Amino acid sequence: MSELMPALFVGHGSPMNAIEDNEFSRGWTAVGKELPRPRAILCVSAHWETTGTRITAMDAPSTIYDFAGFPQPLYERRYPAPGAPDLARSIKQAISDTVVHLDYGWGLDHGSWSVLGRMYPEADIPVLQLSLDFDQPPAFHYRLGRNLKHLRRQGVLIMGSGNMVHNLRVSRWDDTAFDWAKEFDAKLAALILEGDHSALVSYETLGSTAPKAIPTNEHFLPLLYVLAQQEQSDTISFFCKKVTMGSISMRSVLIG
Ligand code: ZN
Repeated sequence: MSELMPALFVGHGSPMNAIEDNEFSRGWTAVGKELPRPRAILCVSAHWETTGTRITAMDAPSTIYDFAGFPQPLYERRYPAPGAPDLARSIKQAISDTVVHLDYGWGLDHGSWSVLGRMYPEADIPVLQLSLDFDQPPAFHYRLGRNLKHLRRQGVLIMGSGNMVHNLRVSRWDDTAFDWAKEFDAKLAALILEGDHSALVSYETLGSTAPKAIPTNEHFLPLLYVLAQQEQSDTISFFCKKVTMGSISMRSVLIG
């Protein structure tokens, strides 16, 4: 086991993955078993955008049902993981690039709990969420990720939860994929393997498909926080590497 906790990006896709048995939920269960047990988890979810950067600092974050029109069993799921107020305060102090606000009003949105419910079903590892400041450009998010690097040495799992290709406007409820979505997903994967983070931060310049693959970037930005953790000694592997629902890449990345 490395002394550096790996860092993880998970493509979360539909909230139904929280309760359905499928290749994605099984992939999340498997990665939870593979990783060294973290002391805490810091999740950057696509589903928490704020003005300024916030970090959850409550003792007991609530499970947030930030979706509508799904079957009742999804609303009955709870993920009662504890928070870690002391760790939230120490992360706030360690971040020099921006002011991080301690937050007592959010909790765990489905970007966190749909995945963590599979990885750590006992919900016995403290979980914090870090918000996405929607006023900031991609380079800000990558730099802020760099500010978190020390956490890997402290046994904290840094997890981004989004989808690197995500276009809900043209998505469909079946397990097919548009060619352009598969091609863009492959392009991103190649850049990740090459370690070309500056090209990924500048994703808008990656050709004419970029605005279709990433029409809004809240599902892409969590990836930048995870890539920012990469050290030279790290290996990179992918799992759940599939585009589904036409335009949603489930490709997930394990660094370290
Ligand atoms: Zn989502």
